[in-house]
Amino acid sequence: MLRPDFLSASNRLTIDLGALVDNWRSMNKRSGKARAAAVLKANAYGIGIDCAAPALYAAGARDFFVANAEEGAALRPLVPDGRIYILAGMWPGNEALFFDNDLVPVINSDEQLAVFMAALSEGGDHPCVLHIDTGMNRLGLSVEHAVALANDPARPASFSPVLIMSHLVSADDPEHRLNALQLKRFHEATAAYEGVDASLANSGGVFLGSDYHFDLTRPGIAVYGGEAVDGAANPMKPVVTAEARIIQVREVAAGGTASYGASARFDRDSRIATVAVGYADGYHRSVSGGGVTLRRATPSGAFGFLHGRKIPHVGRVTMDLSLFDVTDLPETAVRPGDYIELFGRHIAIDDVARAGGTIGYEMLTSLGQRYVRHCIDPV
Ligand SMILES: *Cc1c(COP(=O)(O)O)cnc(C)c1O
Repeated sequence: MLRPDFLSASNRLTIDLGALVDNWRSMNKRSGKARAAAVLKANAYGIGIDCAAPALYAAGARDFFVANAEEGAALRPLVPDGRIYILAGMWPGNEALFFDNDLVPVINSDEQLAVFMAALSEGGDHPCVLHIDTGMNRLGLSVEHAVALANDPARPASFSPVLIMSHLVSADDPEHRLNALQLKRFHEATAAYEGVDASLANSGGVFLGSDYHFDLTRPGIAVYGGEAVDGAANPMKPVVTAEARIIQVREVAAGGTASYGASARFDRDSRIATVAVGYADGYHRSVSGGGVTLRRATPSGAFGFLHGRKIPHVGRVTMDLSLFDVTDLPETAVRPGDYIELFGRHIAIDDVARAGGTIGYEMLTSLGQRYVRHCIDPV
């Protein structure tokens, strides 16, 4: 049953949990002998943990990654016996969040190792993950350091990681030379931690093949329907459809202009639909059809989809409103109140992202609070 607030919303999101679950199952299958985790950071890439987490849990996911302990505490009631890993790790002062919510900190540095050991010395043991930097130069212990730690007789007995992980730099580019180099370095590290599960692959890494799978994979973007590999057809199902309503349809005579800066110019008599979505909703100003710096570098802005046709954005995306050129649709076809698809089934989110010089990840995690959301349960 569609709720009345969804049916009348100015802009709205449909979240297809059947597609989400199918995508996760497909990534789990592609992970071969490894099991797939679910990455639920940033409110499940913007789609909402309230919908995403129970659906993925019901599908069989038991390992969950989030960015910080606050996200982990919010996730805990949704995945009762799931293992929740906290990528940012532990700070002095937030130890209780980990123990109270049974969260597993990722140890990213010497400092975090010390914080964790100090927290343990006050009582019992607790699982942790050791993050190893194999090439990103972002977070993690060096391989040499991790190996030395494994062989250090003075290493505290209570330090027993349940997972060794690293993160790929260029998994979206199968040809990149760093992939094989990172794999080699990761093997050096995991050899020192025999019997401990290992995890290297994000979505792109899963597509790199079984050498990269180890025991646990960490697909995020592919599960949400986004592109994981550059320049390859995207095999995932779209999960999120964003739509916004036409408030008004107006005529602009040939030679006329529209939008801020007169940035849309019309060389024919045109019909313009004014649509209730703007950059405050995460429909970035950079996807504008014209009047933004990026249009000098890439030829066109975003397209919407209406009554079976792609329609171009024109002028600038503003805070609450966007203009689309609907001249090529039959005059009687376009009516105020119609919903234009911004991305989803017909317009790939990654195409909108490209028009704005960004990536599907950023489009998803920028989805604004004004969208009325509707999650469709898997059948
Ligand atoms: C976000 C994240 C992932 C998921 O990456 P995708 O490219 O979305 O599949 C995996 N591992 C780590 C450490 C991450 O931060």
